[in-house]
Amino acid sequence: MKKYDTYCSICGFAIPFNQVGANIETDMVMDFDDMTHCSLAIHVCKECWTKIQIVTLGGMKKAIAKSKELKRMDRKQEKEMKK
Ligand SMILES: [Zn+2]
Repeated sequence: MKKYDTYCSICGFAIPFNQVGANIETDMVMDFDDMTHCSLAIHVCKECWTKIQIVTLGGMKKAIAKSKELKRMDRKQEKEMKK
């Protein structure tokens, strides 16, 4: 009996099909390194798919707020280290 069917393209772990959270297939991928379009066909495990859904909640507005909060925490930590 086969234990694994595929692997997650985010975390890299081998998984059976019943642990696939998403199958992503598209011809609309832009490779920003060489500015060319390419296709993509990947599996994402349930855990990584859930994480993607959580971290993208709130879109750009939430992403900017998270980045600002991280910078604020970094500055606070730098001040504390100087004491
Ligand atoms: Zn994964």
